[in-house]
Amino acid sequence: MAIDRFGRRIHYLRISLTDHCNLRCIYCMPEGMTFHPYAELMQDDEIFIFTRLFSGLGFDKIRLTGGEPTLRANIVKLVHGISHTDGIRSVSMTTNAVLLSKLAGPLAEAGLQRVNVSIDTLDPLKFKQLTGFDNLENVWKGILSAEQAGLGPIKLNVVVVRGFNEPDVVELARLTLQHAWQVRFIEMMPFAGKTDFQTGQMVTAAETHSLIENAMGRLVPVNDQTLDGEARRFHLPGALGTIGFIYSVTAPFCGSCNRVRLTADGVLRLCLLRESELDLLTPLRNGASQDQLRTMVLEAVYNKPWGHALAQGEIPLNRVLNEIGG
Ligand code: SAM
Ligand code: SF4
Repeated sequence: MAIDRFGRRIHYLRISLTDHCNLRCIYCMPEGMTFHPYAELMQDDEIFIFTRLFSGLGFDKIRLTGGEPTLRANIVKLVHGISHTDGIRSVSMTTNAVLLSKLAGPLAEAGLQRVNVSIDTLDPLKFKQLTGFDNLENVWKGILSAEQAGLGPIKLNVVVVRGFNEPDVVELARLTLQHAWQVRFIEMMPFAGKTDFQTGQMVTAAETHSLIENAMGRLVPVNDQTLDGEARRFHLPGALGTIGFIYSVTAPFCGSCNRVRLTADGVLRLCLLRESELDLLTPLRNGASQDQLRTMVLEAVYNKPWGHALAQGEIPLNRVLNEIGG
């Protein structure tokens, strides 16, 4: 079992399947981004080896992310292999849903249980402004296909960006009246390549909460505000779904953190917002044994940082988010 020096049990692995993406979200990818060549990314068999390694250490929950995970060749086969690994109980995916209308059924059949879909506006023009592409219709179809395929409860991720989509949060929150979805509003986090924009245009979750309450009335807390993953949840009276707020910057959930990440190039990232990392792919390719890799992982996890230090001005600058996986 993997436990860190603060006593947190770490059993949730997020795997970035690629740094490539079919969108260019304004808060995510720097302009002129160069991508890893395919050979530098974890290959399918290497992903399966790492999945077995981590499940052997008590990891039972996996989220596939990126870049855009649905762009990965053999994505259905990968999901099948991961979800049929001994000890893995839950496999989910974070996706922009552009390709999901075709893939939702096959992915569900392969063993995918849930998706989180990123959608920051319901306005096609703003969608293009925020993502660089005219693709809102496909995303919407993707969400509906995911629901039909049983990949629920559907969670929608909204990054709120000052000067772009603050007014849109109300329409997005309103979706929960008709749909049993969780619409989650996320504070924009700073990484390399876009730091000034990410810090300058960040809207706090508290501000988003007020924007929604001012337009729609009081939000009712759900579950005494116990965190659902990383979200504090509320609902509108009579709504089928819930509204979540993720205070990733202003009030992070580090105390209950149970996760680490594997970047697309096979590096273990111990905290999203800290630079500390451990390369696993190079030793694997150089012939390290499973025992050696296990020892390396356990030691790195033990030393997992407590949490971020954004308030002290420490911004992680060694990677951009689409390499790490959100
Ligand atoms: N391409 C997929 C997607 O967009 O859902 C998966 C990868 S994306 C990096 C994962 C999540 O991170 C998305 O929900 C995205 O909105 C979020 N994200 C990207 N950049 C962010 C930032 N600077 N701060 C907070 N969330 C961010
Ligand atoms: Fe691509 Fe997701 Fe980043 Fe948007 S947030 S550019 S969809 S990886």
